[in-house]
Amino acid sequence: MGNITIGVLALQGAFIEHEHMLTKTGAVCKEVRRPADLTGLDGIVLPGGESTVQGQLLQKSGLFTPLRELIENGLPTLATCAGLILLAQEISSPVTDSDIQKGTAPVTHLGTLPVTVKRNAYGRQLSSFVTEETVTGVGRFPMIFIRAPYIERAGENVEILARTGGHIVAVKYQNQIGLSFHPELSENPEIHEWFLSQCEK
Ligand code: GLN
Repeated sequence: MGNITIGVLALQGAFIEHEHMLTKTGAVCKEVRRPADLTGLDGIVLPGGESTVQGQLLQKSGLFTPLRELIENGLPTLATCAGLILLAQEISSPVTDSDIQKGTAPVTHLGTLPVTVKRNAYGRQLSSFVTEETVTGVGRFPMIFIRAPYIERAGENVEILARTGGHIVAVKYQNQIGLSFHPELSENPEIHEWFLSQCEK
């Protein structure tokens, strides 16, 4: 798998872990912080973290519009957790007081993926947990959830790849893969390998 270059959005959150996994699976990583970093990519990863912060930094950095255009034009995209929230066309969240104070209560960010995601969907008690489910196209996979969203509604032509506890936690829509959980924090590289195979096409 030589010379596949994957951009990793490196504004905030768990981007280093994706880089480690991608490097292990043979890709070249390029950290994306400004529009010039978007050139020459075969795919892009939107990591977990805090979607409200990432959304603001997308605007400030000038990445918002060129990134959205690349995704809309078919750049293979792997989005995990907060990254999934950035892609979602609709966000339903338990709104926090600080969101309201900061004026960041539910906004849509890139809006390229026709799903509704529920932020912090597992509440406080179950905010982090690990489980294992089958992901279509990948197989059994250890899923690590950290203050994760789940997908409440998948729009037309959105392929549902995995569910846990009755909720959708992995989808694919054209070039976009959205995951509620963190494959980069597991020891299992298969989701990244599968993503790289789509970047090769
Ligand atoms: N709770 C975060 C958010 O709403 C997502 C958490 C994560 O990416 N692990 O953006």
